[in-house]
Amino acid sequence: MFDPAVWAAVPFHFWSFVLFVFGTMVGSFLNVVIHRMPRNESIVSPPSHCPHCQYAIPWYLNLPLFTWLFLRGKCRNCQAPISIRYFLVELLTGALFLAAWLKYGEVSALLALCVCLFLAILLAASFIDIEHFIIPDELTIGGIVVGLLASLAVPRLQHVMDRSASMRTSFFGVIIGAGVIYAILRLGKMAFGRQKFEIPEGGLVHFNETSLTLPDQEIPYEDIFYRDGDVIRFHAKTLELPEICHWNVDVAMTAKELKIGEIVLDPATVGMMVVNTDSIAIPREAMGFGDVKFMAAIGAFVGGPGSVICLMLGSVVGAIISVGALILKSKEVQGKVPFGPYLALGAVVWMFLPFEWQREAAYSLYDLVHLIVPSLKW
Ligand SMILES: [Zn+2]
Repeated sequence: MFDPAVWAAVPFHFWSFVLFVFGTMVGSFLNVVIHRMPRNESIVSPPSHCPHCQYAIPWYLNLPLFTWLFLRGKCRNCQAPISIRYFLVELLTGALFLAAWLKYGEVSALLALCVCLFLAILLAASFIDIEHFIIPDELTIGGIVVGLLASLAVPRLQHVMDRSASMRTSFFGVIIGAGVIYAILRLGKMAFGRQKFEIPEGGLVHFNETSLTLPDQEIPYEDIFYRDGDVIRFHAKTLELPEICHWNVDVAMTAKELKIGEIVLDPATVGMMVVNTDSIAIPREAMGFGDVKFMAAIGAFVGGPGSVICLMLGSVVGAIISVGALILKSKEVQGKVPFGPYLALGAVVWMFLPFEWQREAAYSLYDLVHLIVPSLKW
């Protein structure tokens, strides 16, 4: 009872509680960001409202975690279901802020807050990427700026004591993070940019208004055309439209244009199209340019060596989930999950590795690079 060590521990865990509650409140704000930022709506006004009936949620109901539980996931006014995502994001943000405090709070409170800021950016980017296959520039470009500024303000974020060294590490994190993803992206475009489906003899491919149907699966257009320049290509032995039939033509289809040989049509006006072909190539890219910018932002926070290891961790997590999806034959996951959340997951794992491991990993990488380029300081 009078042991001073007990009393010394109390304030720290009082702050642990405060950080968890603060995290759930930030999570509540992140829910607004996740919903509105990709829709180009203001994130400050109007105040929280039900997206279904526009009912404004009164302040006394707008409590993190409790609101969703209390309303049992339904709007109080119109009973429209409220996604469990709102509850999960609040809980996850609270838990991550608490974990950040437990690990980094003992070093410095300011450092813990920088880590919380980083985690908040990772969370918002991941949930937006999962839903919309984009990561807004506010989070990626903004994240680079915030990461550089945080490294300037709190050099310990980069495990050093002086500001010029921390800025240099942060800057190298941006360059290396962006550079590696960009290289993978360029190589990937050549190697795995599209997925080729072989169609068995006599098999037909049906195109309707919202999806294309292969002999063994149906693929919605929204899974195919989520970037400009996404093209479906095939050579049709026969191609039947409601009023006309083509033989032996090359076809290229984007979200806005259907090219049959030399003829250009608007796919929205075509309706049903039935094709006999040997194979069809469909764009399926795991990564986009948003991931290059996102990895640059992660690099600004974790530094040069950290960004390389985050990437490795993210790829391992991604590979495990992809293999799991293949085994479980889950079409929900296969080829549909964007890469951003894996990068974020890699960064979270890295941030919570023991300090000694982080140091060991960084020094091993330094040694490796110095072996190749002896004069480089990063
Ligand atoms: Zn409502």
